[in-house]
Amino acid sequence: AAAPAGLAAPAAIFGKGRVNSRGFDLSDAQTLARIEAAMTDPLPDAAPLSMTAATGTTRPVVNPASGAVVAQVTEADDATVARAIADARIWQAPAPDRARVLRRAADLYEENFGPLFAAMRHEAGKILPDIVGELREAVDFLRYYAAEGASVPAAPRGPIVAISPWNFPLAIFTGQIAAALMAGNAVLAKPAEQTPLVAAIAVRLLHQAGVPASALQLLPGDGATVGAALTRDPRVRGVVFTGSTETARLIARSMADHLAPGTPLIAETGGLNAMIVDSTALPEQAVRDIVAGAFRSAGQRCSALRCLYVQQDIAPHLIAMIKGAMDQLSVGDPALLSTDVGPLIDAEARQGIADYLAQVQGQVLHQLATPETGHFIAPTLIGINGIAEMQREIFGPVLHVATYRADGLDRVIADINARGFGLTFGLHSRIDSRVQHITQQVHAGNLYVNRNQIGAVVGSQPFGGEGLSGTGPKAGGPLYLPRFFASPAPQAGE
Ligand code: GLU
Repeated sequence: AAAPAGLAAPAAIFGKGRVNSRGFDLSDAQTLARIEAAMTDPLPDAAPLSMTAATGTTRPVVNPASGAVVAQVTEADDATVARAIADARIWQAPAPDRARVLRRAADLYEENFGPLFAAMRHEAGKILPDIVGELREAVDFLRYYAAEGASVPAAPRGPIVAISPWNFPLAIFTGQIAAALMAGNAVLAKPAEQTPLVAAIAVRLLHQAGVPASALQLLPGDGATVGAALTRDPRVRGVVFTGSTETARLIARSMADHLAPGTPLIAETGGLNAMIVDSTALPEQAVRDIVAGAFRSAGQRCSALRCLYVQQDIAPHLIAMIKGAMDQLSVGDPALLSTDVGPLIDAEARQGIADYLAQVQGQVLHQLATPETGHFIAPTLIGINGIAEMQREIFGPVLHVATYRADGLDRVIADINARGFGLTFGLHSRIDSRVQHITQQVHAGNLYVNRNQIGAVVGSQPFGGEGLSGTGPKAGGPLYLPRFFASPAPQAGE
């Protein structure tokens, strides 16, 4: 199907003729008008959720920017989960046909961006640049795995449970499902309890594209009920999860107790992501990337910058510049195109960060004003001595900054590694040998030099961590899809 008017023509990248979505051409007045309409549309009908025939309890969907209840969703209960697993059927169609269906789904996502945008704004509180980026990433996942798997002869595993987070309710939700489906598996998808509507619209589009109903079922609900029921059913042949490290541990424990030994768990979890800025960095560029890494998406990315190390001699100047750049951020209503920082996902998330900020009150170097309604935390800068002081991952717009002396660089690297996470790491330096030294020493799945550390691009920047940050393989890279096959894909030349 043709891309909707105003969608920029995709450019071919990296072999195999794959393409990354180019997003929207905002210089086109018609496109802009369609986007503006989508951002002011009411919430799409929750009716698609009824396709799960869920019989559980009802949960309100809350708009995090206003606190208003915008929908009621009937969640799955144990009986619904058991029935869904019994109904699950591997997707028998040949790989090229599955690839065609996934590519059609990508086109449908692009054509139907209006309801997807509205749902992302209403239930996730996302701002437009994040919404556009998320649609592009979701579409990229569909096309990327379709291209990767179209010619691979391999057997599916069976029913795969896909548990996805609210911070990327479309992109990560779709990426997990696309890979599992491309391998021919049956998918039982549990979206985050905060964002069931985005998931429901996506599943409707996937079915419309031709994914059989028995190969993809949506099971809305929370982790303690639906997630727990799914990950203790011995008929399940694999679990793919993105979320907290604690939840990943619970899932691993349940799988060890109930599922066949060797059943794969692909988990992408949290991070305590650092950036080092040395005295050779370009300050304007570093500040732009620091602010993007820490405050974009209200800090609600597992890739976000949490702990910044600035070389002592430039620290006063750079920190003053960061404060100045923070002052330019507009915090508030995600529906406004001028907004830079939207709300936290829910009251609980907001409270957790508010409690933390109360504890470290004496160390606050800078903080913006907080909007009065909705679940907001304003961008905040905290001074610390080092990453060892940080109690945990603070999943919001809170940046910690420490200074270091040139002769203490290896100590900084050791402290970062000692935390045991390893997701993203950023570095600003213009000395090649130092860049090489640091990037070789720091343990992180995604290393970014002289740029920000968020927004990995499918196909060119596979995303995922090591240690406490996840099991691998990286999403959007060549090793991900083979994990969903029962037998490893044959190597070239075999
Ligand atoms: N892939 C996203 C990025 O590179 C982060 C995913 C997440 O937060 O789970 O920013």
